[in-house]
Amino acid sequence: MYIVMIASECAPVSKVGGLADVVYGLSRELEIRGNEVEIILPKYDCMRYDHIWDLNVAYQDLLVPWDDGAIHCTVWFGSVQGRKCFFIEPHSNNNFFHRERYYGFPDDAMRFAFFSKASLEFLLKSNRHPNIIHCHDWQTGLVPVLLYEIYQHQGMHHSRVCYTIHNFRYQGITGIDILSATKLDRAEYYHHPDRLKDNTHPSALNFMKGGIVYSNFVTTVSPKHAGEARHTDQGYGLNDTLHKHQNKFCGVLNGLDYEVWNPEIDPLIPYHYTAVTLDNKYGNKSALRDRLLLRQAFKPIIAYVGRLDVQKGVHLIRHGIFYALQNEAQFVLLGSSPEASINNDFWQLKHELNDNEDCHLEIGFNEELAHLIYAGADMIIMPSMYEPCGLTQLIALRYGTVPIVRSVGGLVDTIFDRDNSSKPLTARNGYVFDEADYTAIETVMHRAISLWYAYPDQFRKLIRQGMQYNYSWHRSGQHYLDIYEHIQ
Ligand code: ADP
Repeated sequence: MYIVMIASECAPVSKVGGLADVVYGLSRELEIRGNEVEIILPKYDCMRYDHIWDLNVAYQDLLVPWDDGAIHCTVWFGSVQGRKCFFIEPHSNNNFFHRERYYGFPDDAMRFAFFSKASLEFLLKSNRHPNIIHCHDWQTGLVPVLLYEIYQHQGMHHSRVCYTIHNFRYQGITGIDILSATKLDRAEYYHHPDRLKDNTHPSALNFMKGGIVYSNFVTTVSPKHAGEARHTDQGYGLNDTLHKHQNKFCGVLNGLDYEVWNPEIDPLIPYHYTAVTLDNKYGNKSALRDRLLLRQAFKPIIAYVGRLDVQKGVHLIRHGIFYALQNEAQFVLLGSSPEASINNDFWQLKHELNDNEDCHLEIGFNEELAHLIYAGADMIIMPSMYEPCGLTQLIALRYGTVPIVRSVGGLVDTIFDRDNSSKPLTARNGYVFDEADYTAIETVMHRAISLWYAYPDQFRKLIRQGMQYNYSWHRSGQHYLDIYEHIQ
């Protein structure tokens, strides 16, 4: 099969969160299974160009119809750790992708509407006819709309669309002026409850809704979250739309790329280990302390790695830091937020805790440090308010770092509480708590820290059980192929 991924992120070249890991890891798995896979991305100025090999112009003069004229683009081709990637570079005064960061601009909807249109224009003009176009999140919600309303009639009859929603909170809700820019000219037709009209704001368009309505199949990233999105407020207003399209909607658990995330061969950690050579993990713990100027002490390290977003339970993360420090544990945080108020809070906290030898807060994005933290920490916390799938807990399991998670979304599908679970004792792999309050996080952290101190053998057993889990792309890759076959 010939599959084209269209996405706003791909690890490690342009990564904000799990979307990037999924686009890379799923593409790799599909290729291993003998499919032809290409990825189309924006050519951001802030990408990690050091991860692109042999970047060359693939298509010189792509004219993308836009507003009353067209925007001239260059399409580049390069290999990102073996994946074939095209990068779209528009030449216009809008400077869509020369912004020093990926998201967070008033014209984001316009930027990614353009990217969606340009991707299809590129496929058409370069005579590519993928069997499947797989697009992701609100940024590419217009792809199936444009395909079926415009590009199909220009010769792209063949392609079918699978649309994966990684986060329902961000939907691309915007004004209807975008329609004319993209050449979807009949505003009243598109701005209709059965198509792109937002379910909550009657004057607005919703890209994600368009993606759901027009795609041949829609997935979200865990079975549990598929139910939450349909039946609870975690659908963020799209519940009815999902309900209407329930026959083409399901949850497919994300996999993890076990080549990238593998403590046995990870080039970004100083000591390699497996479940059998677990002692070597502690070399990384020591290296992490040296790197972050924490004292070497007989204490567990608890970590948080991830976006600092209300979704991630920032108030509980903050509380968890203090609870750890008051209860004989060290704490390491790596994260950043596009929201100034959250970023400022954590900068202030960082200054407050600056002299504490048991704590380090690193505000920013740092792939290399993330690997060392996964390898060096003893436990990781994820007190999420909602979590479509979550990759952090899967990475932690792989690195023998015990996950402490709240029982939402993909965390429920992947982590099973050591003390209280329907799974057999030997299949439990972490700690789970339900309520989003201080008492709940204190209780669960207390259970984990106590086991670490009082029953180190039991703690190591829990680590090993977690490392034995296989959340690779193997099964989910097959699931996506089944979906692709089904919509062919
Ligand atoms: P989400 O997609 O909601 O951000 P996931 O748990 O699915 O959360 O995926 C997060 C991914 O992004 C993981 O690979 C994690 O290691 C990485 N990540 C998040 N924040 C940072 C950061 N500040 N520095 C390095 N890696 C990060």
